[in-house]
Amino acid sequence: MTGRPFIVAIDGPAAAGKGTLARRLADAFGFAYLDTGALYRGVALSLIRAGVADPTESEATKAALRLDLSLLQSPDLRLEATGGMASRIAVMPAVRAALDALQRRFAEIPPQGAPGAVIDGRDIGTVICPKAQVKLFLTASVAARAERRVHELRARGLPADLAGITAEIEARDARDAGRATAPLKAAEDAHLLDTSDLGIEEVFAKAKSIIETARQTRT
Ligand code: C5P
Repeated sequence: MTGRPFIVAIDGPAAAGKGTLARRLADAFGFAYLDTGALYRGVALSLIRAGVADPTESEATKAALRLDLSLLQSPDLRLEATGGMASRIAVMPAVRAALDALQRRFAEIPPQGAPGAVIDGRDIGTVICPKAQVKLFLTASVAARAERRVHELRARGLPADLAGITAEIEARDARDAGRATAPLKAAEDAHLLDTSDLGIEEVFAKAKSIIETARQTRT
C-alpha cells in the first residue's frame, strides 16, 4: 500500500444512481464522499436566488468562485430546475475551472484523514482524477432513471411529474454529453455498470467487489 489516497471515481448520466452507490461505498470502506454535482447545483441555486435566469459565463464564474458551501444543504438543491441550471452553467469552461481546485484537493487530501475518497460526477474518471484506482461508469435507460427520480422527489415531498422529468433528463443528457469541455463519457478503463434492471444491493455488491480486487492488487 502506498500513502496516496485510494480514489473511486463514479461517473454517469443524471439519476443513474451514482449518489446512493457512492454513499454506500464510502461508508463501507471508510472513505470520504464528494458529490461534485452538488457543487454545480450550489452555483446554480445561488444564481437562481439572485434572480439571474440566463447567466453569462462571467456571472456564473463569479458565483462559482464565491460559492457558499452552506447552500449545499438546501432542499432546493435537488429541484429539477436547479439541476437544469446546473447543466447549463456546467458547459462553461471557466465555471468548471473555478470548481476544479476544490475537487482535486478533496482527492489529494480527503477530509478527516480518510484513507480514500469516493467522488461522483460526470468527468471524474476522465478529467478530475484520471489516475483514480477504480473508475465506475453507471448507466441506465432514460425510463428507469426518470422513474427513480420521480420516486426520489416524491419521497422528499417535492413535486414530480414523469413526462416533465423524462424531458429534463433527456435535455440534460444531451447537454452533458454534447458539451466541448469535459463531456460526460466513460473513461477507457472504467467498469460499465448498467443499473436499469439491477437493484441497489446488486449494484453495490458488484462495485464493492471491483474495489476490493483493486485494493488487493494495488502496488
Ligand atoms: O449529478 P447532478 O445531477 O447533481 O449534476 C447536476 C449537473 O451538474 C449535471 O447535469 C451536469 O451538467 C453538472 N455536472 C458536471 N460535472 C460534474 C458533476 C455535475 O458537469 N462533475
